[in-house]
Amino acid sequence: MRTGTLGPDERAEALAAMAERELDILVVGGGVVGAGTALDAVTRGLATGLVEARDWASGTSSRSSKLIHGGLRYLEMLDFALVREALKERGLLLERLAPHLVKPVPFLYPLQHAGWERLYAGAGVALYDGMAMARGHGRGLPTHRHLSRRHALRVAPCLRKDALVGALQYYDAQMDDARFVLDLVRTASSYGAKVANGARVTGFIREGERVVGAMVTDVEHGGEYEVRAKQVVNATGVWTDDTQAMVGERGQFHVRASKGVHLVVPKDRINSSTGLILRTEKSVLFVIPWGRHWIVGTTDTEWDLDKAHPAASSADIDYVLEHVNSVLAVPLSRDDVEGVYAGLRPLLAGESDATSKLSREHTVAHPVPGLVVVAGGKYTTYRIQGR
Ligand SMILES: Cc1cc2nc3c(=O)[nH]c(=O)nc-3n(C[C@H](O)[C@H](O)[C@H](O)COP(=O)(O)OP(=O)(O)OC[C@H]3O[C@@H](n4cnc5c(N)ncnc54)[C@H](O)[C@@H]3O)c2cc1C
Repeated sequence: MRTGTLGPDERAEALAAMAERELDILVVGGGVVGAGTALDAVTRGLATGLVEARDWASGTSSRSSKLIHGGLRYLEMLDFALVREALKERGLLLERLAPHLVKPVPFLYPLQHAGWERLYAGAGVALYDGMAMARGHGRGLPTHRHLSRRHALRVAPCLRKDALVGALQYYDAQMDDARFVLDLVRTASSYGAKVANGARVTGFIREGERVVGAMVTDVEHGGEYEVRAKQVVNATGVWTDDTQAMVGERGQFHVRASKGVHLVVPKDRINSSTGLILRTEKSVLFVIPWGRHWIVGTTDTEWDLDKAHPAASSADIDYVLEHVNSVLAVPLSRDDVEGVYAGLRPLLAGESDATSKLSREHTVAHPVPGLVVVAGGKYTTYRIQGR
């Protein structure tokens, strides 16, 4: 496997090279969408540049639930196209594109009502597995199974006996989101893409109506570079409205930020050999195995403060604890929480007031000649967004 080195010398060389010669594609934003776009472009033989204002994956792409999944809950929202697309990507990532980074992870769904719930939820996971198989990418993950209460408690002894009447267990996939982005950037670099972090776009260069490049500030050492490109791709996630404002055109859509918080809890505090998925009033809550820890989350609330520093509130922590404790025999307390992180979902605005109902789909827009904007979407489907 080729790997590119991302040291200070390579960074300086990349910035100088981008300023020296017109690129075919300049990608703005080093999250999963920007990094994936740069890799796609450079492997098509295009002269490609990628600039990131802070560090690779420092935005949303290091603060996710770290799941590569079809999204079982979107099935309930009857968003079949989104689930189908994501399941196809899950299969490709697991089996072909990144089997070294993307691994299977089991989830147990405790059933709380005898009869109808097993039928309803069972049909849901059967459809989920079936849709993955139908795409020919289901292998690599075991199919779901139905568990009695006794069996479920053997698999997840942490559960309170009266919290379930039985369970379903199904598989999805997980990865280290920040590491995955770094791998994309390094691979793009190894194919010849010029990549620089600490490189903020402060404005777009226009020739008439057309965008022909961007002004890039070296945040680490000072200095400004004029980077020219035949096409600029704006992949700045929740910063899209800010970066689009630099173009000076009315945007075709807006990107809202919805905050999601995760708690990090030591492994020995939850006795289980499987992850958990629990229903909440608005969405679902995951308990996800993560090395010597569990990641428990997430929430879904509006955020309109500093996008670079989303933070968990006391109410967010209480919300997560309350929901996970509703099924645990030994409840978690605040003392059990070793870490908390918050991230901002880039959601296309305008479709609904509740952020949990806003579309997880992405949009690719062409607001002016020479500029493409990619926004919204899920980590799992980054490849589709960047194509
Ligand atoms: C709590 C939470 C949980 C999630 N869980 C999952 C999950 O389990 N599975 C899944 O598939 N998806 C999940 N998602 C969604 C997924 O994480 C995001 O859709 C994805 O990471 C967005 O990537 P991005 O590249 O668009 O944005 P970002 O990662 O935010 O990248 C945008 C980048 O642009 C840079 N930038 C901004 N302005 C400039 C500028 N002027 N110049 C240069 N660079 C600039 C920023 O610094 C940033 O690094 C989750 C999201 C959240 C918030």
